[in-house]
Amino acid sequence: MNNKVSFGLGLDLGSTAGKAVLVDGTGNVIDKAIDVVNVEPAKTAVALRKELLERNGIKHAALVATGYGRSLADNADKQVTEITCHARGIRHLHPDAVTVLDIGGQDAKAIRLSPDGTVEDFAMNDRCAAGTGRFLEVAAKRYGMEIAELSACCEDDPGPGEDGLEVDISSTCVVFAESELVGLRARGIRPQEALRAVHRAIAKRVALLLKQVGVQMPVYFTGGVAQNTTLCIAIGREINMTLHMADMPQFTGALGAALFAARVKKQP
Ligand code: ADP
Repeated sequence: MNNKVSFGLGLDLGSTAGKAVLVDGTGNVIDKAIDVVNVEPAKTAVALRKELLERNGIKHAALVATGYGRSLADNADKQVTEITCHARGIRHLHPDAVTVLDIGGQDAKAIRLSPDGTVEDFAMNDRCAAGTGRFLEVAAKRYGMEIAELSACCEDDPGPGEDGLEVDISSTCVVFAESELVGLRARGIRPQEALRAVHRAIAKRVALLLKQVGVQMPVYFTGGVAQNTTLCIAIGREINMTLHMADMPQFTGALGAALFAARVKKQP
């Protein structure tokens, strides 16, 4: 590839996964990569950079790091907060976006954007795992499923179904909620109905977050958890609005970082 062209590399070192996006000088996405293990963010940063540059035959790209582990990316030219990067990424993908809901492995964020795309307000939950991907992971494990299988198990329908009217998970803590799941199983509640209740419980919690920022349409759903259609529908019902699944939802923060990186002047 032509090394006279400038490139931007965005790294989102999240609480669970490390994501990287490579863009060219005009903001076109060239490639992306993910490390779902991400045990040592500093090593993830080096490995993801190497993977994207080598695969695309590029010698240098300015690098902006974001996410929880951003300060550990020694190879970054700059660090930018994840709220700012999510805002930048979502407006690039969906110029009409006004509200963004991002749910990752350990936290959830609601962001409201101003007409020029800057952050007008945001709210974050990084204290309670019951409104994050962590709860889905615990539930999937309990039922011997992969996280990506949960939505299909619910037939993309958060219910409650005919035999699920009584099923509710009220605990606001994942540890107690897991005990409730055990109790539901003891009552003979089918996995599908119990898992629908899990989705509804998460939806209730994140709807509060969205209401805190004064949710306005159009609302886009990002983060790894946004790949779950059942949850997308459940949240939409809670806020009485359609929630749109963003394009490449898990990479929105990394994309925003890459777009900032493409504007970093110092390139050899
Ligand atoms: P973070 O930035 O906090 O690392 P991500 O936005 O990368 O989080 O999302 C990671 C979360 O997404 C994990 O909880 C993971 O289990 C979940 N996840 C990954 N793939 C899927 C899927 N297909 N459906 C639902 N959740 C998923």
